[in-house]
Amino acid sequence: MGSDTDTIVAAATPPGRGGIVVVRVSGSRTEPIARALLGSLPEPRTATYRSFLDVDGSPIDAGIALYFPAPASFTGEAVLELQGHGGPTLVSMIVDAVVALGARKARPGEFSQRAFLNDKLDLVQAEAIVDVIDSGTAQAARAAVRSLTVALSEAVDDLEAQLKALRILVEAAIDFPEEEIDFLSDSRLSANLDDCAAAFETLLAKTEQGRVLRDGYQVVIVGKPNAGKSSLLNLLSGQEAAIVTEVAGTTRDILREQIDIDGLAVELVDTAGLRDDPGRIEAEGIRRARQAIESADAVLWIQDATEAEHGTIGETLPANVPVIVVRNKIDLAGEAPGDDGDVVSLSAITGAGIDLLRRRIRLLAGYENQGEGAFTARRRHLDALGKAHEHYGQGLHALEETRAGELLAEELRLSHAALGEINGATSPDDLLGAIFSEFCIGK
Ligand code: GDP
Repeated sequence: MGSDTDTIVAAATPPGRGGIVVVRVSGSRTEPIARALLGSLPEPRTATYRSFLDVDGSPIDAGIALYFPAPASFTGEAVLELQGHGGPTLVSMIVDAVVALGARKARPGEFSQRAFLNDKLDLVQAEAIVDVIDSGTAQAARAAVRSLTVALSEAVDDLEAQLKALRILVEAAIDFPEEEIDFLSDSRLSANLDDCAAAFETLLAKTEQGRVLRDGYQVVIVGKPNAGKSSLLNLLSGQEAAIVTEVAGTTRDILREQIDIDGLAVELVDTAGLRDDPGRIEAEGIRRARQAIESADAVLWIQDATEAEHGTIGETLPANVPVIVVRNKIDLAGEAPGDDGDVVSLSAITGAGIDLLRRRIRLLAGYENQGEGAFTARRRHLDALGKAHEHYGQGLHALEETRAGELLAEELRLSHAALGEINGATSPDDLLGAIFSEFCIGK
């Protein structure tokens, strides 16, 4: 393992052939490396056409060199960017030459990690770099860019400032016990506490939205065999993903399909027919189905409109996951498509009513009100925010119970610390390591 003071090098563009490739160098030795590699140091921040020289002085390639002196660079260190011709051999020759001149190859995410350590990015923005690159829909990409341009960071910072002001008030009251009782019943404090609680609620809702944008909305399809689950999955995904047959119980395993509903990334999960008396082969499928349902954002319960009996599946669904009942095969039952708020009636074969279902999924995901202010967020952000909110709530509760400030002060402290985990202000090192390790080399 190299240290954080080494000068690092990596291709910033993906491996393989391409028009151009970007090799990035960052660290304190960048300047002498640039001099040796390019013959002399290019003007800062000016695209300069140069030969890239091997250690023996022979040219490897020629292209554009960009030199960014510290601290005005992506990492906050001196950075050299070389745009050469795209080809794996040339790239490794350039990287090898830079290594021979005193750099070492970068670990995954190391450039972003340095940017974070040098206060160029906070943790949310560093993560957003990965999310922009990995985003599955245009909406998610735009929202990730907003995270990168600090939307979530700013919202967290605002809340943090509010919490900090509250802590100062409460700590001050504790330090002057003769005034504590009056102070704690002061209307200014209660107004501040209410404001902060409201800010928590707002940010939690936006962050949950952001998580759905990033990770997608997971919808599990359940129903008796032959109700039309596979047909509906095929219709929604527009391709033959699931095998449709007339033999009951063909979908034995879990099928996952990514679809895009007006920019909302939805993962559809088709489960083995949940039966009251499973055959032996299907038992494992049913176990997995139950697992998928436990962690889903919503359940589509498909019922056959031509049958009176819809089984007992509804009773076995977990209470905390919202259920959309789909009345399928209306073409056979002679019914019209519709959505009465509980039940969506449609035909998975003719497609009648499918738009109603798509709309209902968007509504349930809270996706209809997606405004300009959207940003992507991760489960990690939501968890930290949830923890901060919980401590906050416990603090309020303690104040009501005891009319004394100590417990409130302690809960506010814990809440503040949990909030700090989001942007990295209070993140432990192992968490930082885990976050940056999911980056690719060169980021
Ligand atoms: P699954 O077992 O729940 O996955 O059900 P399938 O999707 O395999 O469908 C079972 C049978 O019902 C197939 O023959 C489908 O063609 C048929 N089916 C499914 N949905 C409809 C529908 O809306 N209308 C009609 N007429 N047939 C349907």
